[in-house]
Amino acid sequence: MTESPSERPVLVLNAGSSSLKYQLVVPETGEVRARGLVERIGESGSEVADHSAALQSMAERLRGEGIDLEGLSLRAVGHRVVHGGPGFSEPVAIDDEVLDRIRELSALAPLHNPAAAIGIEAARKRFDVPHVAVFDTAFFASLPPEASTYAVPRDLAEKHAIRRYGFHGTSHQYVAQATADLLGRPVEDLRQVILHLGNGCSASAVRGGHAVDTSMGLTPLEGLVMGTRSGDVDPGLHAYLGREAGLSLDEIDTLLNKKSGVLGLSGVNDFRELEHRLAAGDAGARLAFDVVVHRLKHYVGAYLAILGGIDALVFTAGVGENSVSVRAAVTDGLEGLGIEVDRARNAARSKIARVISPTGAMVVVAVVPTNEELAIARQTADLVG
Ligand code: ADP
Repeated sequence: MTESPSERPVLVLNAGSSSLKYQLVVPETGEVRARGLVERIGESGSEVADHSAALQSMAERLRGEGIDLEGLSLRAVGHRVVHGGPGFSEPVAIDDEVLDRIRELSALAPLHNPAAAIGIEAARKRFDVPHVAVFDTAFFASLPPEASTYAVPRDLAEKHAIRRYGFHGTSHQYVAQATADLLGRPVEDLRQVILHLGNGCSASAVRGGHAVDTSMGLTPLEGLVMGTRSGDVDPGLHAYLGREAGLSLDEIDTLLNKKSGVLGLSGVNDFRELEHRLAAGDAGARLAFDVVVHRLKHYVGAYLAILGGIDALVFTAGVGENSVSVRAAVTDGLEGLGIEVDRARNAARSKIARVISPTGAMVVVAVVPTNEELAIARQTADLVG
């Protein structure tokens, strides 16, 4: 049976160094035909030796679910790529040159881009369809210079491509549009602050559908307090830790990326677990929660000023979509700024986009589920036509 173009799915791949996330999505309808995760790629004792083997394992699993990838007339493969560097400001069709450029950006994203390149290479060998790279940084490529520039010597910044890139861009862009759809207003008319709160967390200021500021920077370490990342610290902390604690730069990098944030303060990085401990009266959990919320308020206030007022404050991703207490705490005391949540609306559980501010409030506070795979599938389909 041949399917009409509008029914043909896009395969969305997100390759990490030892994992491969996949989703088979019909971009027009959002229908998810299949999704899954292949883990432990290349690890000792694992049956999955490399990313080609991971694709084989994915294909076998799909066959087990009655989906024959080869016979499916796949429309395209969309690849999530973390870092687009200074050059990629929108999705691109992947050829050998693009793949080389993604690889060359590995200095900026040493954990992510090499894995993405390996995943792309394997997928291009296996699937003879157009391949598209969708970059996590792309939505922020248009940040105005005053927001993207670090106050360090310009020649050095130029030589090493140092700027604020921002991440989670696919999510922020998707949620900005989904919020406009929810409100039934053109995205061009809205000033939004979007809080993407998952394991990684980032805030963005969006005017008319375009990002004007974001909390992540050269790397995803800057900004909000996250599951295991510190977010903003005094840049002087690095030198201090080097001198006083005798840590190397790599050790400091690992400390701030993997052992800090909610984990460093409370001993757990998962937010549900944090909330359980909070309810049990754990002091470390209390401090972690309060630090997370304080930093969030700091950014909400900053972006309110940068945008000159906002129409919508939007919560998304695992914590943003699910944590009643975070949403309540972040908005608490902001009534004077027109920001408040309705207690019952905030407490209602739902998987769909919804407004949680009281009717007639000056600022709409909303919970809008993100869907990065669908966004990647749509951008991929748009590009290949
Ligand atoms: P990722 O950044 O890996 O995509 P997610 O967006 O899935 O992460 O968010 C993961 C986080 O969301 C975890 O800290 C998890 O504890 C939190 N989370 C998921 N469900 C809930 C819930 N019901 N209440 C509070 N936090 C939740």
